[in-house]
Parts: sequence; C-alpha cells; structure tokens
Amino acid sequence: MEHWPALADAVIEILEPKSGGIYFDGTVGEGGHAEAILKKSGPGGRLIGADVDAQAIDSSRRRLAVFSDRVTLVQANYREIREILEAAGVKEVNGILLDLGVSSRQLDDPERGFSFRNSGPLDMRMDPEGGADASELVNRAPLPVLEKIIGEFGEEPRARRIAQAIGAARRKKRIATTGELAEIVARGGAARRPGRHPATLTFQALRLAVNRELENLESFLPQSLPVLSPRGRLVLISYHSLEDRIVKNFFKSVSPGQAKILTRTPLRPDAEEIFLSRSRTRSAKLRALEKAGEEA
Ligand code: SAH
Repeated sequence: MEHWPALADAVIEILEPKSGGIYFDGTVGEGGHAEAILKKSGPGGRLIGADVDAQAIDSSRRRLAVFSDRVTLVQANYREIREILEAAGVKEVNGILLDLGVSSRQLDDPERGFSFRNSGPLDMRMDPEGGADASELVNRAPLPVLEKIIGEFGEEPRARRIAQAIGAARRKKRIATTGELAEIVARGGAARRPGRHPATLTFQALRLAVNRELENLESFLPQSLPVLSPRGRLVLISYHSLEDRIVKNFFKSVSPGQAKILTRTPLRPDAEEIFLSRSRTRSAKLRALEKAGEEA
C-alpha cells in the first residue's frame, strides 16, 4: 500500500508554507508531506529533504521532480541537520518536520526485513549500508542486552522469556529470517493482545535499536531551534510512546523566551484517517512549537 502521510492537514496548517519560505523535512520518505509543503509554498518556496534510506530518496526524487530546483534531496541522517543545511547554503528555515518511524514501503518490502507477516532476511536497517543489522543483534548480542532492548524499547512485559527463547533457538541454528524470529517470539510467550501479532512489540524494539532511533531524535531536538527563523515552526510526529516522551521532555525544557508550544496535548488522527490509512497512522501523535522572536 502507498505510504499515507499522517496528519498531513495539520502539518500544513501549522507550518503555513508560503512562497519564499524554506522548509526542512528530515524524514522525507515517499515525499507525501514534502509534496504538500511544496504545493502550498509555490511558486517560490524551497524544501530540503533528507532520508537515510537511498530508496526513499529515489522515490521522492521522482515524485517531486515537477518542483525542479525548489527541492534539494539528500541521503543523510536528520541528526546532521546543521551540515545538511550548510551544504545547501541555507542558514535558517521557516519550518521543520520530522515524521518518525518507518514508511509503508519499507515495512511492506520483505527484503528490508521489517515485516513479520512477509518473511525476509532479518535486516531492519533503514539505511542498508549502515551498521549492524537485526540479525547481528538477534544472533550475537548477550541475552541480558536483548532482554533490556525488548523490555525497554518494546515495553514488552515478557522480555525475559522472549530473550531466553531467542537464546535457545540461536544455540541450535542462526536465526536468519523475520519469519523465524516471529515464530520464536510467539512461541516463546510474548504478551498477546487482540488484533496484534505477538511479535509486534519485539520487532518494534529491535527496529528502534538497530536504527538508533531514540538517540537520533535526542541529538536532533536541541539542534532544531537554532536553525529555525524567528516564528519558525517545528512539527514532530511520533509513533512510539518513548519517542513522544522525548519530544514532550524537550518541549518542557524550552523556555517561553525561546519558543511557544502550539499543542498542549498532541494531535491525533481521527477515525476516518485511521481507517483510510489502514491503521498505519493509529499511533501517530503530533506536537509542534513556534520559535520566539519577530518575523523578519
Ligand atoms: N513523511 C513521509 C514518510 C516518512 S516515513 C511521507 O509523507 O512520505 C519515515 C522515514 O524516515 C523513512 O523513510 C525512514 O527511512 C526515515 N528516517 C528514519 N530515521 C531517519 C533519520 N535518523 N534520518 C533520516 N531519515 C530517517
């Protein structure tokens, strides 16, 4: 299924893209939000988009080709925001968007190894060139480390049993595919909830660890305010309670002299959007702030 850009109306309402504005989309993905920002900011608005995944850059490049030189796309980690903007010759931006998590394209492609429904190599790297993949973690990490990842990042109450089941399985044979892992986790006694595969929390935890998702977010947030122009806006969409907590704590740490919080409680998709996105947006939470100062 095509990737559904979560809460796109709210993103546009808050960013208020305008001609002459410059916008940074740090998780450009399939270019859904980026396209909306570019349409709204015509004829003169500019967008700088980054993604760690080269395939995402390729497909958003195709989608956004009509906007020609109004778009700059780079394969990079959003935590390098300063370097990315500098290389693009930009000092300040009017708006920043991070739409965290994985895209439907990544999730649905068995070869990328995110999916327990369609078995594939146990990979889970958003950047397939970068660092250790999930199979390395699952087959080599000490069991207490696995238990901690599954327990903390997955908030999986049965983390110990799952880690032990992984340990028993990998002593016999290397765990090579997402299907094998899903079965080990399910049979190992993962917590069950109606409507959800028992491996959901474990897969989510491993994905967060493999891609250092929480670290990236923590490193990015304090860098975002200095590159926003006065009255510029920062929009963050998270899909995981730990991500949302990091965003919330950052917002709390910002003084009213620095920025104004625009969302007292996070915005969530309504029932219609959740239905139309086939539940892919169901856990989305949007928080936003506006940098203080006088608009130039
Ligand atoms: N808003 C996009 C979808 C984003 S999905 C759209 O409308 O199409 C999330 C994307 O963030 C994925 O493509 C993933 O590869 C990317 N991503 C995750 N962590 C990243 C990071 N640290 N730096 C850059 N991109 C990242």
